Amino acid sequence: MQPRFLILGAGIMGAALAHRLARDGASVTVIEALAPAIGASGRSFGWVNASFFLSEDHFHLRRAAMEAHRQLAAELARPYQPEGCLWYEETGVAFDRQLAALEALDYPLRLLDRAAVAALEPRLAHPPERALFFPLESAQDPGDLTHALLGSASSHSAHLICGLRVEGLTQSDDRITGIRTAAGDIHADHVILCTGTGTPALLAPLGLHLPMLHRPGALLVTRPLQPLLHHILATSDQEVRQDAQGRLIAPASAHHQADAAEALPPPQEMEQATLMRLRHLFPNAFIRPDRLFLAERPVPGDGLPVIGPVLPGLSLAVMHSGATLAPLVADLLAAELGGQGEQALLAPFRSARFFTG
Ligand SMILES: Cc1cc2nc3c(=O)[nH]c(=O)nc-3n(C[C@H](O)[C@H](O)[C@H](O)COP(=O)(O)OP(=O)(O)OC[C@H]3O[C@@H](n4cnc5c(N)ncnc54)[C@H](O)[C@@H]3O)c2cc1C
Repeated sequence: MQPRFLILGAGIMGAALAHRLARDGASVTVIEALAPAIGASGRSFGWVNASFFLSEDHFHLRRAAMEAHRQLAAELARPYQPEGCLWYEETGVAFDRQLAALEALDYPLRLLDRAAVAALEPRLAHPPERALFFPLESAQDPGDLTHALLGSASSHSAHLICGLRVEGLTQSDDRITGIRTAAGDIHADHVILCTGTGTPALLAPLGLHLPMLHRPGALLVTRPLQPLLHHILATSDQEVRQDAQGRLIAPASAHHQADAAEALPPPQEMEQATLMRLRHLFPNAFIRPDRLFLAERPVPGDGLPVIGPVLPGLSLAVMHSGATLAPLVADLLAAELGGQGEQALLAPFRSARFFTG
């Protein structure tokens, strides 16, 4: 008989795993407390990249994840045309360091001068003296992708239950046997926590303390504009991209992937400051705000993903940069859950670094 998998959380991570397991013929149920993509996945900048990384292992995971996005798009018959990223978050020595690090890792890039940047982005008011161009980086809307993945999972007979909060995990001896909800217990052969910032609360009753950083984030979405920006732009104080509807999508903090702020300024203040920076980049555009989204990023204590088995019958997949990583992590974790052995790329990201000792 096929093992029964219960995936908790219908963000991009849970959806990608449900898609992969269901496509491979497994019995899959996804349980979501609220609604699909209501957490970080629905409020994400969606920059798929490996130019930001915390360690070499992290780089290799992210680099492979970029390729997994390409394969996933083909599988779901979704368009995939990386627009590339123009990066000048750093200047001087820090810029040189980033260039040297990425060249040493053989990352596809081009070094551009001011004229070349202006040619790529003619409406940009202040092209920098130099920038790096990462041609394979792309923007994916993780909310939209979450829905597409859940649709695919359903077409392969996965069940999605929304509006049901998981209150705890059921256990027999040292094995996790299912979940506890207000509607009763549900049994499973394996439970996978894709619950983002909700994960520590589910692990704590088992005596497992998963440290998470408190990393609130905000994302400004503007009203649609005429085509203005062709690439993802990462300047020293603002990241921004323009989506297919013409809206600018802009995190309210600079270098948002490395943002270490534990508290946010008032929303109105963030909105105005972000608008000012966008208008400085594109002074001739009539940029008007539409919505400011607030979200908590799921960032494990050392900033790196936590993926894989925790106890018999229990695994987890919790990470920042899930917009980048989810399709690959789903492939690798599904292979492990399907008995194909440990996947080398996941080895540096096990939960044991938090739960032993
Ligand atoms: C402002 C912002 C910008 C970002 N930019 C980028 C970027 O450019 N590139 C990138 O790669 N990543 C980016 N990220 C990070 C990325 O969006 C997240 O890592 C990713 O969305 C996490 O997906 P997830 O499915 O693990 O978690 P989530 O999307 O948070 O989903 C978790 C789900 O679990 C559910 N849940 C929790 N507890 C329970 C429970 N007890 N019972 C049932 N359900 C439960 C929640 O309701 C939620 O729907 C950004 C995040 C933010 C907030």
